[in-house]
Amino acid sequence: CIQKPFRADALSALLQKVASCRGEISEAMLEEAVEREELDLHYQPYLDLQSRRIIGAEALVRWQHPQRGPIPPSAFIPMAEKSALIGKVTDLVLAKAVAQAARWNDRLAPLDISINLSARSIQDVTFPEQILRLCRQHSLNPARIVFEITETAAMQDPVMLMDVLTRLRLKGIRLSIDDFGTGYSSLAQLRRLPFSELKIDLSFVSTMMASRDSEIIVKTIIDMARNLGLRTVAEGVETPTILERLGELGCNVAQGYLIGRPMTAPQIPSFLGNYAAA
Ligand code: C2E
Ligand code: CA
Ligand code: CA
Ligand code: CA
Repeated sequence: CIQKPFRADALSALLQKVASCRGEISEAMLEEAVEREELDLHYQPYLDLQSRRIIGAEALVRWQHPQRGPIPPSAFIPMAEKSALIGKVTDLVLAKAVAQAARWNDRLAPLDISINLSARSIQDVTFPEQILRLCRQHSLNPARIVFEITETAAMQDPVMLMDVLTRLRLKGIRLSIDDFGTGYSSLAQLRRLPFSELKIDLSFVSTMMASRDSEIIVKTIIDMARNLGLRTVAEGVETPTILERLGELGCNVAQGYLIGRPMTAPQIPSFLGNYAAA
């Protein structure tokens, strides 16, 4: 009986070693990475289509593994979301992103910061207070923050979400539905939640010049968002033709490789300088 927990531990350590040798990522590896601060943020700028100015950037998490090099979020966020680890990842992302946005607003330019949230964070009733404390600590106006929540996450428990999202919204934080068009949300449900923005999924945007269906979907989302008083952001804008067409359709904001790839915080000032000069 005394042996049992020891054996379980030894077995799990062995399994972890095997997984690691096979190149798999385990929860324990990610947990260590969070503690060692191997996770950092890249920022992808976005452009206001009317003023032609860069008005903000989205924080995208990166894992700089000392041996394997950069590991993309798709390789560890879904795993983290299955456990409480996503909480630790989100705390780290929030702390870094809020501190960075505060520095930009103090010293560089008024920029918004968009931050991806997983379903778990928005199910935590203490979350609004946590984020406000962080804003006070760094003297960042909460109105600079946009939280991106995927359409699927937004549909999980609308009643519960209502409370957390309403509290965030009352503090001036904006809420965006990410990957819009890929889920099966009911518009009636979405409309009841206090969102300010729809982010059109890159699968429609990147194919809108080649596929008539994609273009119709993009146009329909933009028209619907306008009628509901929501801002539209198109992600995955890779060509000038797409950028121009989005402008004609009345899309508000564009993001994608054409405007700028995700970059480190120190690269942002020169990016802004070059963009304004171009
Ligand atoms: P997302 O929020 O939909 O982010 C957009 C993804 O598309 C990013 O990939 C970005 O680098 C990529 N992208 C941007 N512009 C273009 C383009 O023009 N063309 C193409 N082909 N791709 C483009 P990334 O950085 O690998 O992030 C993948 C996903 O990981 C994100 O999708 C988001 O769902 C998740 N993620 C990233 N950071 C965080 C985070 O801090 N927290 C949480 N919960 N999820 C995160
Ligand atoms: Ca996003
Ligand atoms: Ca997206
Ligand atoms: Ca996505």
